[in-house]
Amino acid sequence: MTNAEAVDLGHRVLTPNYKQQPIALVRGEGTRVWDADGRRYLDMLGGIATCALGHCHPAVRAAAEAQLGQIWHTSNGVYNLPSLRLADELCRRSFGRRVFLCNSGTEANEAAIKLARRFHFAAGAEERVEIVCAVGSFHGRTLGALAATGQPKYQKGVGPMPAGFLHVPFGDEAALRGAIGPRTAAVLLEAIQGEGGVRVAPRGYLAAVRKACDEAGVLWIADEVQTGMGRTGTLWAYEQEGAVPDVMTLAKALGGGLPIGAMIATEKAGAALTPGTHASTFGGNPVACAAAVAVLETIEREGLLQSCRDAGEYLRGRLYELRRRVGERVVEIRGRGLLVGVELSAEAAPVVARCRELGMIVNLASEKVVRFAPALNVELPDLDEATDILERALAA
Ligand SMILES: *Cc1c(COP(=O)(O)O)cnc(C)c1O
Repeated sequence: MTNAEAVDLGHRVLTPNYKQQPIALVRGEGTRVWDADGRRYLDMLGGIATCALGHCHPAVRAAAEAQLGQIWHTSNGVYNLPSLRLADELCRRSFGRRVFLCNSGTEANEAAIKLARRFHFAAGAEERVEIVCAVGSFHGRTLGALAATGQPKYQKGVGPMPAGFLHVPFGDEAALRGAIGPRTAAVLLEAIQGEGGVRVAPRGYLAAVRKACDEAGVLWIADEVQTGMGRTGTLWAYEQEGAVPDVMTLAKALGGGLPIGAMIATEKAGAALTPGTHASTFGGNPVACAAAVAVLETIEREGLLQSCRDAGEYLRGRLYELRRRVGERVVEIRGRGLLVGVELSAEAAPVVARCRELGMIVNLASEKVVRFAPALNVELPDLDEATDILERALAA
């Protein structure tokens, strides 16, 4: 099948909910991907921050293949060993002591919302149901996570939204304190608003969130679906803020590109999900869990947190140079580690399309922002090439 045939079939058989580039990717290796016509691209998106080790990393592939030869799925009525190993590794490497495994970011957030409400219910505070979220946030597309998402465009035409979600300006401590009250169950925030345009919380904000939550007796849920797994240069973005959440949600890079999500909680918060209160048929899938364990081990073994910090600094340096050359077409360069947003003065969609024509995959994070989220082991010459392609796309 060629790209043109794939596009044609896609137009006929898929629901038209995605704005898709007119190519089908058929193969990937490291930071390179190939389309159905045999054309090669530099992948600076890593499947939207999922393929944290690049495409088809041998360690992840070996782990998944070994598990495929053992057992593919069990019910949650029994234990499976890869899910136990993964939960244990996640607890060892974070504040967490209890893990719920699922299949996506939105599911991880649904679990966190339910956990927060049940936490207070179990303590006799049934009125504590409200979740305070941020304007411009993104938490997923199922109805609870969508109600938490602070971007009305995603909610249009699919209401009514579940009740109990409030939105305050991101990074504004006073607004957050004003919104927390006797009905609040939790505060749900990203450390960096990824989909919202790679907007980094101001220094000190998350520490202030921690303090406000402690004073009011509410839970802080950190949505690290996009920022987790080393993306910002530490395994979890909260580590750079000197503040520790009660609950953290993960997905995107957790399985290195295989579908998996997780909600991680403290002992006290996690205890709220008592038997029967939550479940997922595929949650804890042994193949996905085996891959995720390999991703964690590889990040450690290959020193990829340091690589990510160095590469991120290098990329931002190259982008600042680019901005000096192209002037006000680049408004701002934001991000941490290898989650980088380049805000343009105009719509970024034509620039993203032009980058693809020039052989590089990136995408939009809000209308005017080009997002880079390459593999954590991306090499510096790739970043030179990426900057060069972006500059040529801007010139066109
Ligand atoms: C992508 C994303 C989600 C949703 O994840 P899905 O796997 O698409 O459901 C939730 N939160 C954040 C911060 C994300 O970036």
